[in-house]
Amino acid sequence: LEPRACDLVAIVHAAMNMLRFRLRELSCEPVLDLPARLVPLHADPAQLKQVIVNLCFNAIDAMSGGDRPRLHLSLLDEDDGVCLRVQDAGSGIPEECLPRIFDPFFTTKGVQQGTGLGLSVCFSIIQQHGGTIEVESTGPEGTTFAIWLPLAAESL
Ligand code: ADP
Ligand code: MG
Repeated sequence: LEPRACDLVAIVHAAMNMLRFRLRELSCEPVLDLPARLVPLHADPAQLKQVIVNLCFNAIDAMSGGDRPRLHLSLLDEDDGVCLRVQDAGSGIPEECLPRIFDPFFTTKGVQQGTGLGLSVCFSIIQQHGGTIEVESTGPEGTTFAIWLPLAAESL
């Protein structure tokens, strides 16, 4: 981890920029609810960008084939920290899979398509930042992942 002073809003934009071609292929115009100010963190920006990209790739996978792709990212202040939500309109996660999705190599996509490492990498990066990541809701309407990160630097 190479933590430094960075802005979570800029990190979200950088992640979306990395995903722009994939989103265009899907005709998905992401909705971003971001504050019109900096959200300062003491964090590793490259690693946090990786987390957002991993979550969005899963969202895209869960929506491809569907007719109404919807990706919504929002950033809200929450209890001495900031909460980033990534919400999709995808297939949802079956209840029996939920206990295993953060396990390394757990994938429902088959060896050709998935490594099963995306969420386990997300989990360890967020843990190293003193934050939390969880599935906030999932069902036939889609899935929301919520990441909470501390605003203060003490955790690093
Ligand atoms: P991979 O994408 O390589 O399968 P991940 O660790 O990124 O591995 O995800 C693990 C599993 O969690 C996926 O195979 C999928 O079953 C499930 N999953 C993760 N995110 C979503 C999502 N947004 N919608 C539906 N299922 C998801
Ligand atoms: Mg993945």
